[in-house]
Order: sequence, then structure tokens, then C-alpha cells
Amino acid sequence: MTQVERHTYDVVVVGAGGAGLRAAIEAREQGLRTAVVCKSLFGKAHTVMAEGGIAASMGNANPRDNWQVHFRDTMRGGKFLNNWRMAELHAKEAPDRVWELETWGALFDRTKDGRISQRNFGGHEYPRLAHVGDRTGLELIRTLQQKIVSLQQEDHKRCGDYEDRLRVFQECTVTRVLKDGERVSGVFGYVRESGRLFVIEAPAVVLATGGIGKSFKVTSNSWEYTGDGHALALLAGAPLINMEFVQFHPTGMVWPPSVKGILVTESVRGDGGVLRNSDGKRFMFDYVPDVFKEKYAQSEEEADGWYTDPDNHRRPPELLPRDEVARAINSEVKAGRCTPHGGVFLDVSTRLPAEEIRRRLPSMHHQFKELADVDITAEPMEVGPTCHYVMGGVEVDPDSAAATGVPGLFAAGEVAGGMHGSNRLGGNSLSDLLVFGRRAGLHAAEYAAGLGTDGRPRVSAEQVDAAAAEALRPFSVEGDEPEAAGGPAENPYALHQELQQTMNDLVGIIRRAPEMAEALRRLAGLRQRSRRAGVEGHRQFNPGWHLAIDLRNMLLVSECVARAALERTESRGGHTRDDYPEMDRRWRKTNLVCELADRDGELAAVDPADGQVRLTRRETPPIRGDLLGLFEKDELLKYLTDEELDT
Ligand code: FAD
Repeated sequence: MTQVERHTYDVVVVGAGGAGLRAAIEAREQGLRTAVVCKSLFGKAHTVMAEGGIAASMGNANPRDNWQVHFRDTMRGGKFLNNWRMAELHAKEAPDRVWELETWGALFDRTKDGRISQRNFGGHEYPRLAHVGDRTGLELIRTLQQKIVSLQQEDHKRCGDYEDRLRVFQECTVTRVLKDGERVSGVFGYVRESGRLFVIEAPAVVLATGGIGKSFKVTSNSWEYTGDGHALALLAGAPLINMEFVQFHPTGMVWPPSVKGILVTESVRGDGGVLRNSDGKRFMFDYVPDVFKEKYAQSEEEADGWYTDPDNHRRPPELLPRDEVARAINSEVKAGRCTPHGGVFLDVSTRLPAEEIRRRLPSMHHQFKELADVDITAEPMEVGPTCHYVMGGVEVDPDSAAATGVPGLFAAGEVAGGMHGSNRLGGNSLSDLLVFGRRAGLHAAEYAAGLGTDGRPRVSAEQVDAAAAEALRPFSVEGDEPEAAGGPAENPYALHQELQQTMNDLVGIIRRAPEMAEALRRLAGLRQRSRRAGVEGHRQFNPGWHLAIDLRNMLLVSECVARAALERTESRGGHTRDDYPEMDRRWRKTNLVCELADRDGELAAVDPADGQVRLTRRETPPIRGDLLGLFEKDELLKYLTDEELDT
């Protein structure tokens, strides 16, 4: 029998980014024994890459800002497909979460009169992003990490053990959520360095695993983004929603090839940077869609006036929501008005003094100098769209972050769906992590405490054996089987490359029905071949083995994206159909729900030959009347059906 280490906690948080750390702090503050599991080193989660800032209507830069305006912007950005209750809670609670961070030691940039400084970002009516230069995520994680250490010090003072109620299992990957009947009973995983297997028994599990970008070839995402939490939820029986909505950030680096996709923060445009094509034209004025026409400037003069006098000028079109800017860049490139390396120019060098650029955008200055030998204080950058964020995710109850249909499972942060609708506004992720991370930790703790000691679910030996066999399977694939027994072993790296190319080419920024159907066909083939993904060597830090395991997740999640994208016959937010270019008001009322097709209540049996995902349509709940009252009727007419407007 395979050896498996065992631990017992009340709450397990999978993920140590902003959402996971905030959830863990809350669960521990409720007095529960809490474990945090993360793939990378503690403090190195993807959140550290966040640059521009955290959106919260504190009103420091413009006193007219408040939660209602933030709510409106968020709903507009998501084209009204957002879970409105999540958008409401987020807008109301974000300022408290930022102030709380400050009391825990975060050092935000300040205004001249000493308040937290707030900067402009696309889709936000007022300057709203609290920031630390362009390294906001790093400060957020540093602060949460410091808070965790201080809680551990409290425990040490109390009982002599730092890890008595809060322990971080770093460089560990969870491969299964375990269940006792319908209820969660813990997690199964492996230690990346040693290859040892482990089980953490716990009645409540919070998924905070981030996004899915590593299924695409060009992405701003880190190596951790293999859609693990999305897949873990599906495999545990929880549905995913909105998976067709993948955000392509308009500005990723396009050159040199080794860094293609790395993010160029939106702060560059927020601080005055403009987009130009190869003719030198500031082209975004040609791409303002009707729904936004009243709010965006028509001329360069008007747009430039907004930076110094926002009350009397409309916003520059470079600050439209990301989906609009990404599509515009894509069109310019397609029309041949592109830079030498297939992007467009983003210029801040002619807009701000060099000293100011170095002060406001130190990471960008460093990034371009080091990676592309471009001095952004003297010349423009070349940029193009890059896969950046997934709006889709685990369907959750907005107030408690509980996953649908699986008692004891919670989800927060990028892995959860609904909050951002069809398109996320910049800055709204960091605030989402804190608002819903806290809620997930709180409700997971309440749920676990409510069970008492007798009512706790148990981990069965059969489930552990099945999870261990699944994890170790790549070692038992024979190198050269006869065709009848499955054929030769497959290289996980080659499979991953094919998957990324497929998603990039066929389910990317602009989508067409035949291409998505072809993607599903290719994914089925890759899934079949991935059963024979084999690795050599032993379990001690073996990246090929890790990737072979991650492939299961990426293939599952990619199928969700492709199936949902094929089904939604309209263009909305992060989902653009060449064959259905318009937004269709009738689709606003529909969420597409992905579930595992073949589920037996225990570990789901995954048949690689067929599609694994069942797709259904679910009507979205009507938006509460007082929230609709925050919009002009004329505006609502653009999004809502007549039937919805009449009720
Ligand atoms: P993450 O921070 O990604 O954390 C995920 C955690 O889960 C990690 O610890 C990982 O190790 C762990 N994990 C994953 N799978 C497993 C597994 N199987 N087992 C165990 N652990 C696992 N948003 C903003 O609001 N403002 C910004 O300025 C901004 N800038 C950005 C800049 C860049 C370059 C990028 C890529 C994104 C940016 N975003 C920004 C988006 C934002 O950073 C992310 O959406 C957010 O950080 C996600 O946080 P999270 O807590 O959900 O997940």
C-alpha cells in the first residue's frame, strides 16, 4: 500500500494568493484550526504579480465616488451578466478591506494631504485604484503574510506552538477534494519536492487557486494557473458558470518571443499613455461602441483635457473596458496597421516627463529595459492582447461563498465565477479577493464549527487509494506499448504545447463556430492521449510528473471554455463571436453551467473518449429593483429585455 501522510484540521484553504490568505486569516480569527496549502513558496502566489491597484470607492481622489458608482461601473464592465449581489457586496465592502489592510501594515502611495492615493483605470468613472507604485499585489501579499505570522506568534505565546491553529503547507499540490457522501471530508495531494503523498482531513475546504491562463499559448499568467481549483470543484460535483468569458488583456508584450504575453499594466494608460497604430494614428476614437458613446471623448483634445480636468471632459477611449480595447487592437493588427512585431504602439514617452514615468511606473520601466532593451521614457512600447483572467468559475452563493451542491466546499478569488459577469474591470480582482476571501473564511469556519466533533465527515480508505493511484499513474505508463494496449507513452510537455496552441488559435480572442467545434475534437484527442502521459525517474521534484497531473485539469477546464463559447451565440465582454458580432439582450438572462458529465457521487469516473462536460442553461435571478434604480432607463434598455424592464 502506498504511504500517505495524514493531518487533521477544521478548515483547509487551497491557495495562498490574496483570496486564500484572507480566507485563512478569517478562519483562524474565528478560532478554528486552519491549514493553507499552496503550490509555490509562501509569499510567491500569482497575486504578487498584480500591478495597477485595488479598486475601492474611498473617494480620496474624487469625493463623488461611492459604492453605488462602483457598483454601476462593475455591472457595465460585465455587461450586466454579473451576479448583482456579488457586485453589490464587493462595491460596499471593498473600502473596509483596503482600510483593514492599512491597519495591518500596508504602505499605500499617498495623496499630498496624506490619504491613500487612488489612480484611474479603464471602466472606472473616478480614480479608484489604491496602489503601491505598480507593485500593488506584492504589498498586498506581504501584508497578509505578515498578518499570518503575527497570528502564529500569538499562538506561540499562548501554547508554545506557532502552527497550533494556522499552518502553511507550501510547495504542495492538491489533486482531489475528498468527500463523505455529498459532504466534503478533506483534500488529497502531494509534496512537490519529495513526492510524498498526503491527506488533510477537514470538513470545510476553501478553493482559492486562481485562474486558467496556462491553457493558452500567449498569457500573462504564472505557471500556477493550470485551472486546478476549477477542475477540483467539477470533479467534486460542483458546477462552474460563465466559462466562455476569458479576458484578453489588451496590452501584453509582443517582443521578444521569450516574453510574449507578459503584462503591460493598464496604469500606463491610466497615467496618460496612448495607443497608436503604425500610421501614428490614435485609433481608439474609432472603436467606441454605442453603449459607451456618451461617456467617452470624441477628440484628442477632449480626451487629454480629462487628465487634468475630469469634471469638464469625457474619458479618453484608451480607458474603455479591456474587452473593447483588446478587440480594437486585434482589428488594427488584422488590418495590417501593426508594429514590426505584430502589435500596436503604447506610448507614454511623449506624454509624461521621464522622471515622472520612472516614479509612477518603475516596474514597467525596468521590465522593458531588461527584457526588450526598450527605454519607455524615450520610445513607445509594442503591445498586443494576452490571455489574462477568467471570469468564469465555481458557482457560489454570493453571501457565503459556498459552492453550489457540495456542502463544505467554498470558493473565492479568481476561481469563483459570477462577480465580474462577462468582463472584469481592472483593479476589481484584488478587491474581490479580500471581500470574498474574508466571507469564504468566515462561512467555512461557521460551517465547520457547526458540525461539532460527532458530525464530522470521514475520509474513506478507498478514496485515498483511488486518489493515490490516479496521482502515481504517469509512472506506470509503459514507454512502448503495442497499439492495442494504448500505443507509445506521450510526452506531457508536447501535449501541453498542443493544448495551448489549440486554445490560442481556436478559442482565443475572436471565435467562430467551426473553429470551436474543431477545438472540441482536438481536445477529445488530447484527452485520450493524456491517459498515456508517462514520466521517467522518481517522485523527488519531477516537473514532468507535475505537468502530467496538471494536464487533467487544463483539459477539463478547456473543454468547459470551448463548449460554453460554442453555445453562446452572441458577443459579450470577454466572449467575441465573429459569426455573432452583436450583444443579444436575450442572452443576458442566461448563465451557461458546466458540470461533470459522468459523476457517481464518489470520485468521478472520467471517460477520456467522450466529452467530460455537460452544459446546461440557467436563468439568472432578476436584478433587485433598488439596484436597477441606480441606472437611467435609457441605459438599461441597451442591456435588459423588455420583459425585465416591465417587472
Ligand atoms: P492566486 O494569487 O493566483 O493564488 C492561487 C494560489 O493557489 C497560489 O498560492 C497557488 O500556488 C495555489 N494553487 C493553485 N493550484 C493549487 C493546487 N492544486 N494545490 C495547491 N495550491 C494550489 N488584479 C487587480 O485587481 N489589480 C491589478 O493591478 C492586477 N494586476 C495584474 C497583473 C498581472 C500580471 C496579472 C497576471 C494579473 C493581475 N491582476 C490584477 C489579476 C489578479 O492578480 C488575480 O486575479 C489575483 O491575484 C488572483 O488571486 P487569487 O487569490 O484568486 O489566486
